Amino acid sequence: MIGEHHRIGGFPVPPRVIVVGGGAGGIGAAGGAKQAAPEASVTVFTEFEDVAYSPCGIPYVHGREIDDFASLFLADKEAYVQAGIDIHYQTRVAAIDLDRQTVRVATDGDEQEVPYDRLVVATGFDYADPGVPGSDLGGLYYVKNIRQAMEWDKVLDSVSRAVVVEASPLGLEMTTALVHRGIETHLIDPRPWPLADVADPDIMAPVEESWAELGVITHLNTKLVGFVGDGQVRAVATSDGELPCELAVVCTHKQPNNMLARAAGLDIGSTGGLVVDERMETSHSGVFAAGDCVELPHGVTWVPVQGLSGSHAYAQGKVAGANAAGGNRRYAPVYVPWAMVAGKWMIGGVSFGETLASALGIPYVMGVADGISRARYYPGVRKTRVKLLGEPGTLRLIGAQMVGGEGIKERADFLAMAVRTGVTLEDLAWMENVYSPPIGALNEPIALAAQNALSRLQS
Ligand SMILES: Cc1cc2nc3c(=O)[nH]c(=O)nc-3n(C[C@H](O)[C@H](O)[C@H](O)COP(=O)(O)OP(=O)(O)OC[C@H]3O[C@@H](n4cnc5c(N)ncnc54)[C@H](O)[C@@H]3O)c2cc1C
Repeated sequence: MIGEHHRIGGFPVPPRVIVVGGGAGGIGAAGGAKQAAPEASVTVFTEFEDVAYSPCGIPYVHGREIDDFASLFLADKEAYVQAGIDIHYQTRVAAIDLDRQTVRVATDGDEQEVPYDRLVVATGFDYADPGVPGSDLGGLYYVKNIRQAMEWDKVLDSVSRAVVVEASPLGLEMTTALVHRGIETHLIDPRPWPLADVADPDIMAPVEESWAELGVITHLNTKLVGFVGDGQVRAVATSDGELPCELAVVCTHKQPNNMLARAAGLDIGSTGGLVVDERMETSHSGVFAAGDCVELPHGVTWVPVQGLSGSHAYAQGKVAGANAAGGNRRYAPVYVPWAMVAGKWMIGGVSFGETLASALGIPYVMGVADGISRARYYPGVRKTRVKLLGEPGTLRLIGAQMVGGEGIKERADFLAMAVRTGVTLEDLAWMENVYSPPIGALNEPIALAAQNALSRLQS
C-alpha cells in the first residue's frame, strides 16, 4: 500500500518523503533522503517507464559512438528495491494538496490520495513549444525519454535527410550525431551563430568550420515558420524557404515543467522556475524542489537562472532530499561550468563570455590566448583558445570561454571554482601548471590568456 506509516507524538518518525519525478533531480532526492535518514520511507512517482538512465547519452547512441541504449542505464529496478526506495513507474501525480499534505496519483485510470510529511517536487523540463503550424505532425522528434529514443533510433535507419531546429546545446549534439550517422543534416537557427545565447562567435567559428567539413548544412539567421506535411513531416518551412526532410529534431530551449506546482500554489519566479531557498525549500514549509523545475541565483549577478544541467539537478536533488528527511544541507549559488563536444571540437566555459556579459550590461576586462593542448611536438596536439573575463578594478575572474581538442571540461570545472573563490587574473597569469608532453604544454593556455589581459591593461 502506498504511504503506509506510523506517526509518533505529532512529528512523523520516520518521515514519509514523497518525490515527484524520476529524473536526475528526483533520483538524487530519493538517494539524498535515504542517506540522511535510512529509516525514512521514500516513495518516488514518475510518469516514465524507467529511472536511473542517462538521457545525456542518447545523442551518442544515435551517432553510433555508443553501441546500445542498455549501457545508458545506471542501475536496474531491483537496486532501488534493495535500497528501500519505492518507485512507482508510469504513475502521474495529478495534484498536490499543500494543506492536507497529500498528492493525488493516477495509475491506469485509478486515482488515490497519498499522504506525505515532506515533499520534493522534481518535475523537470519540457522543450518549448515551437508554436508554429504543423507542430502536431509525425516525424517531429523531441529527445528525452529513453524508450522513445530506442524507437526513434530504428526510424533513423531509414532517414536520409533531417533538420535540427535550433542550435541549442542539444541541437549541437544532435547535429553532430546525425551527421556521424550518415544522414544529410540541416541545422536552422534564428541567431547569427550557433549557441549564440551562451557562446561567443569566435568560440563557435571552428565548430562551424568542422561541421561544414563533416557535411552539415547550417542555416543561420533563419527562422522556423512551420512544419509541412500530410500527417507526416515532409519539409521544414523557414524564413528562407522550405527544407525537405523525413525527420525534424526539435531542440527548442528547456522550460520548467511547473503546472503541478503552480496549481498547488507554490511561488514561481521570474524565469518560470520554482523559487527555493538555499536549503532547496519552496515557499511552502516542508515542500522542497530540485532540478530543471527550479530557479537559483547566479553567483556573480545574483540574477535567477533556470534550466541548468543534469549534474546540477542531481546535486540539488541530493540537498533537497537530505533536508526533506530532516537534514540541514545548503546548495550554493551557481557559476555554471559547461562543456560539450560539437563537430570536431570541444567547447566550454563558465558564467559568461563577452556576448552574454555585454547583453547583461556587466562591465569586464578581457584576455585571450591561442595556446596548445600538449607539447607542440607531440602527436595529436590541438589548438586551445581561452578567453577570460575579469571584473574591472579587482580583476576577479567572472567568466571564461574556450574551444579546443581536449581538456576543456577540466578547465571549465577549475575556472568555475576559481570564479567561486575569488581568484584574480593576476593569480591565473602566474599560476602553477603541469607540463607533460602527451597531456599538457609548457605554457598553460589559461595563464597565457590571463597574461594577455594584464598586458592589455598596461597598454
Ligand atoms: C537528450 C538529453 C541530453 C542531455 N545531455 C546532458 C549533458 O550532456 N549533461 C548534463 O549535465 N545534462 C544533460 N541532460 C540533462 C537535462 O538537460 C536536465 O538538466 C535534466 O534531465 C534535469 O533533470 P530533472 O530531474 O530536473 O528533470 P527531467 O529529466 O525532466 O525529469 C523529470 C521527471 O519528472 C517526471 N514527472 C514530471 N511531471 C510528473 C508528474 N506530474 N507526475 C509524475 N512524474 C512526473 C518525469 O516522468 C521525469 O521522470 C540531457 C538531457 C537530455 C534529454
